[in-house]
Amino acid sequence: MKFFMNSEEFARRLCSWQREKGRQNLPWFTSDPYRRWLSEIMLQQTQVSVVRDYFARFLQAFPTVDDLAEASEEDVMRLWAGLGYYSRARNLHKTAKEIAAAGRFPQTRAAWEKLPGVGSSTAAALASFCNGEVAAVCDGNVKRVLARIFALSAPINQSKTAKLLQQRAEALVSRTDPGCYNQAMMDLGAMLCTRTTPKCEQCPVGEFCKASRQGNPLDYPVKAPAKPRRTALVHALLCVEIKEEEPWVWLVLRDEVQKGMGHWKGLWTLPETAHPRGVEVARIEHVMSHVTLTLAVHRAEVSELPPKAFAVPASRLTDGPLPAPIKKLLSTLLFDAQLF
Ligand code: SF4
Repeated sequence: MKFFMNSEEFARRLCSWQREKGRQNLPWFTSDPYRRWLSEIMLQQTQVSVVRDYFARFLQAFPTVDDLAEASEEDVMRLWAGLGYYSRARNLHKTAKEIAAAGRFPQTRAAWEKLPGVGSSTAAALASFCNGEVAAVCDGNVKRVLARIFALSAPINQSKTAKLLQQRAEALVSRTDPGCYNQAMMDLGAMLCTRTTPKCEQCPVGEFCKASRQGNPLDYPVKAPAKPRRTALVHALLCVEIKEEEPWVWLVLRDEVQKGMGHWKGLWTLPETAHPRGVEVARIEHVMSHVTLTLAVHRAEVSELPPKAFAVPASRLTDGPLPAPIKKLLSTLLFDAQLF
């Protein structure tokens, strides 16, 4: 079939479309491995529009990988706060230390893949962008594009299908300009072959696309029903004191995680308890990839707090390393005079 055989033409069309209509001038479009790596980690699960500001702030605070390696974890988490998926920030910091100790960035996909937080697709992107290695990105967007091009009827969220898609991605990647090809596939997934409104009439590889020819691109990718997300109820303690004419909130550094509750490690959060005594003042629901968390917030006295708790003035909360929902909750609650 044409889409199997003519991979060179497929890649050529994609790359010329990328040069003409793809995303250009993003601040990380450079062969500097530090910028490329930083952006690829930030872009995992996060959109370009959100990443731009975080990327600029990170570069300003840590202009080189050595600066990032020498930073404190608190500073790294503070700058990451609000971007979510916080294990990315912890792994970023660990990886910076490994690269700084090695004195250079990895030169191959296999070497990138050994670093914390760098999966197969990210390693392929970095090796192709920075070193011109022939390696195919196969992230969520690319999988969707390929599932449509090949009209794959096997569920995309099964490991057998993931393996098949990876093989097809490796067969299609350009042998002469793998970096441009990978960027083009990612741009195609983000700009034209979107989840709900594929713009097939503008697609540079529409001629190769089986789903488009069948007239049913929205039927792909096929997905097996996902397991329902777990739910968890967590009781948090809110203790506020007025000192130096402003409210101070008692927080903890979440350095240890409870079994099955790996969220927010390395961030400042409200202390938690299994047996709350004070009145419940707020309840929020926060949906994460693995769990829907309900946080019930109870008033508490200092004597009820764990020994490692510390007080932070309200004016420091905006820039502190707090998860976005806790930051938002506190900014609302601290206006409530009845709490003090
Ligand atoms: S033709 Fe349509 S469905 Fe096929 S890859 Fe292009 S945008 Fe996606």
